[in-house]
Amino acid sequence: IKRDPNQSEFQEAVFTVLESLKPVLEKHPEYIKTNILGSLVEPERVFQFRIPWQDDAGNYRINRGFRVQFNSAIGPYKGGLRLHPSVNLSIVKFLGFEQILKNSLTGLPIGGGKGGADFDPKGKSDLEIMRFCQSFMTELQKYIGPNLDVPAGDIGVGGREIGYLYGQYKRLNGSQSGILTGKGLEYGGSLARTEATGFGLIYFLDALIKDQKDSLKSKTIKISGAGNVAIYALQKAQENGAKVVTVSDSNGYIYDPNGIDLATVKQIKEVERGRIKEYADKISTAKYFEGSVWDLDIDYDIALPCATQNEINEDQAQLMVKNGVKYIAEGANMPSSTKAIKVYKDNQIIYGPAKAANAGGVAVSALEMSQNSERLSWNFEDVDHQLKGIMENIYKQISDADKEYDLGKDYQAGANIAGFEKVAKAMLAQGLV
Ligand code: NDP
Repeated sequence: IKRDPNQSEFQEAVFTVLESLKPVLEKHPEYIKTNILGSLVEPERVFQFRIPWQDDAGNYRINRGFRVQFNSAIGPYKGGLRLHPSVNLSIVKFLGFEQILKNSLTGLPIGGGKGGADFDPKGKSDLEIMRFCQSFMTELQKYIGPNLDVPAGDIGVGGREIGYLYGQYKRLNGSQSGILTGKGLEYGGSLARTEATGFGLIYFLDALIKDQKDSLKSKTIKISGAGNVAIYALQKAQENGAKVVTVSDSNGYIYDPNGIDLATVKQIKEVERGRIKEYADKISTAKYFEGSVWDLDIDYDIALPCATQNEINEDQAQLMVKNGVKYIAEGANMPSSTKAIKVYKDNQIIYGPAKAANAGGVAVSALEMSQNSERLSWNFEDVDHQLKGIMENIYKQISDADKEYDLGKDYQAGANIAGFEKVAKAMLAQGLV
């Protein structure tokens, strides 16, 4: 706290992990002796830089860019770039820190990093986005490399932005390389990367639910968000026979008791780049409400937050209990406040934490890196099949840790422990680095 007094999101993420690791430290005094935790919470490197660009009206604009290279014990730094006005060092560090353990859980050789800028893509023209991305990459390219640090997308960074960033990298470096993941299929992207986080969330949830001798079929689900993660979670949940009744954005939410129509959401968000409120103009059974979807008082079974950090507070978690929610799995990063998580645990809501539940995106990103290295493209079914196996294995690892340390179905602690052990062993093996 003394070192980073104004980094509340980062502190929240660190304290939650450290709390979970107590039983591991009791079992492994060598982690205390070598101060592994001290190393783990200190990024290997942090870059902060100026991003100048020009808007369509000719004004000179300045944003602040970040890249945090947090931990490379098990592979090159890997983690997305976020473009959102709320981006600051605390947010990027919390995301980078979480990414270390998440990437470890995937079982693939990738370290943890994260980046972004306090740029607001909303309302910007295509050319403004392009000029911004070019300026961002002009600086960022000094710090990244295909065996060093491979960024991807996150909030506000989808296929279009990755394309502009990649084009500028190539222009400055004169070579094709797998420097970013989430690329277009025409220039080195992987099939199933777009779907990966949302599909992966449902593969994880399915494994968790089956282990409780229950099934996704006929369950009613609330999803927040209407972006990349939310859309493909919606699709896979429906394919598994569940009914999703909400989607949202930062202004409000849609409630459709008949079940959200996937094609309409895709049309509005992916084709027209519109707002979710337009859904109610197209589908007569749906209603649009301003505010948070977590304040909607309806009975349902499963909560899938897929929008942003701290979107669920303590009162909203209490409402979930009243509404009969049995499971929550996090598509977004850290969407539940610490107090909300306590409510889940106190009321036996089974909780699948973000670093396990949403690891599908980064897992397929790592598969994209493999494909780029061998200069081959795998087919959709191959990648999707591997994704499913990875998510099932993540559930197995955290449930094994839960049993080993007798945590009582505390999958949050299970994920922190399982993710940490591999990183800690790798750090110890490499000495004081
Ligand atoms: P998108 O930008 O595609 O979508 C984000 C969605 O969340 C939009 O509907 C957005 O609404 C909404 N949202 C953003 N900020 C807020 C807010 N403050 N309050 C309410 N709603 C908000 O992002 P993604 O779907 O890619 O990412 C969503 C979450 O999933 C993030 O936490 C991200 O870190 C996490 N994640 C994403 C991965 C990926 O592969 N994409 C991988 C792993 C995690 P609006 O349009 O109004 O801003």
